[in-house]
Amino acid sequence: MSARILVVDDVPANVKLLEARLSAEYFDVLTASNGAEALELCARAECDIILLDVMMPDLDGFEVCRRLKSNPVTHFIPVVIITALDSPADRVRGLEAGADDFLTKPVSDVVLIARVRSLTRLKMMTDELRMRAITSLEIGVQAPEHSAMAETGKGGRILVVDDRPSSYERLAPMLRTEHTVEVQTNPSEALFHAAEGNYDLLIVSLGLNNFDGLRLCSQARSLERTRHVPILAIADADNNARLLRGLEIGVNDYLLRPIDRNELLARARTQIRKRRYTDHLRDNVQNSIEMAITDALTGLHNRRYMESHLGTLAEQASSRGKPLALMMLDIDYFKSINDSYGHDAGDDVLRQFAVRVRKSIRGIDLACRYGGEEFVVVMPETDLHVAGMVAERLRRSIASEPFAVNKGANRIDVTISIGLSTLQTKGEAVADVLKRADIALYRAKHDGRNRVVAQAA
Ligand code: GH3
Ligand code: MG
Ligand code: MG
Repeated sequence: MSARILVVDDVPANVKLLEARLSAEYFDVLTASNGAEALELCARAECDIILLDVMMPDLDGFEVCRRLKSNPVTHFIPVVIITALDSPADRVRGLEAGADDFLTKPVSDVVLIARVRSLTRLKMMTDELRMRAITSLEIGVQAPEHSAMAETGKGGRILVVDDRPSSYERLAPMLRTEHTVEVQTNPSEALFHAAEGNYDLLIVSLGLNNFDGLRLCSQARSLERTRHVPILAIADADNNARLLRGLEIGVNDYLLRPIDRNELLARARTQIRKRRYTDHLRDNVQNSIEMAITDALTGLHNRRYMESHLGTLAEQASSRGKPLALMMLDIDYFKSINDSYGHDAGDDVLRQFAVRVRKSIRGIDLACRYGGEEFVVVMPETDLHVAGMVAERLRRSIASEPFAVNKGANRIDVTISIGLSTLQTKGEAVADVLKRADIALYRAKHDGRNRVVAQAA
């Protein structure tokens, strides 16, 4: 995975140094010597990650970061602030400006590469999710970007895993100023606790008395229910090797002791913001998948889904030597319902019709809206005789009970015509099965409607 990294620094020697290190790791490197140039490159979407110097003439790094993060086009590019000033206040300023991370000069090689790698992973993931979200926007769903930008990262649910009172008695009150915090002092129960609790963030001490904190982190990463929960590790300053190992196995961020309150809060907020943002995108993807296969008015499957799934069902039936039946249904004189009672009444009928269809069929049957007032039900493991009984029962359930429309103001008698067919030979094209049902339906209409006709033998 070759990410493009933009290095921004007004001192050419600094640029050269970072460029050389990143190129050696096969990253693609772009450079800029001031903030304006950096903003321009970013607006053209030419990089995946930005390493941003703080002290620059004109626009300093904080300002560049703020502008990148407030522009929807560049909002998603991870920003790493590089500061010479190793003061917590400076780090906090960077994080408040929306930076995803910061590094302190002189930048250690291992830390640089570890951070860039982990941000690259995050960027690739959000890019993919965003692409899908844009597709769903095109078909009419609210894009999540706006709410993500307004997300503060406060009010999260945090689980702190720490068995040293001297440590968690300091940490928890700091976090409680902005979040709901639970402390798990028994690390061997922490994983279970984390999986059950629906947390926004896990904070794991790597200096546990009786347990390997890294093992816990790696277990949390492999468990389905905690896989997406961000992990913030807390390490002692002399623990560099373990920290890097942690970043490799998926720890999202870390803090070194002694813990600075502002830095802790800022890093927790950043992780929670990201977590909520990706959750949001994931839900959005789920929605758009459902939308792509569901008819919005009736909640039944749509034609596209039915056509792709029917092939699979037919293959299964063929290979197992089981029958497969299909009915095509069409509401009789539906146009006159619209004409007499209005289009909304027509919609009411379609919705209630779908409810009655669902009640008449089994869970394994596949019902879909095939067109305006035309529906198809596919019935696995069903022969023509049984399908005929199901169809007749459904026909009666429609004809016997009028449909209430216009908020109950009108009750309309509705009837349907049904054409039936079955899969006749192994490997038969599903289009032919549909065709036979359609011909049978035509016959049902022709013969006077409100009836079931099976395919000609
Ligand atoms: P037939 O008994 O021969 O099936 O007559 P019909 O009137 O039901 O058939 P026709 O195909 O002439 O008319 C179907 C009507 O369904 C026309 C169209 O305006 C209406 N329709 C299609 N989709 C919708 C919809 O989503 N909502 C509403 N209210 N009407 C729809
Ligand atoms: Mg009709
Ligand atoms: Mg029709």
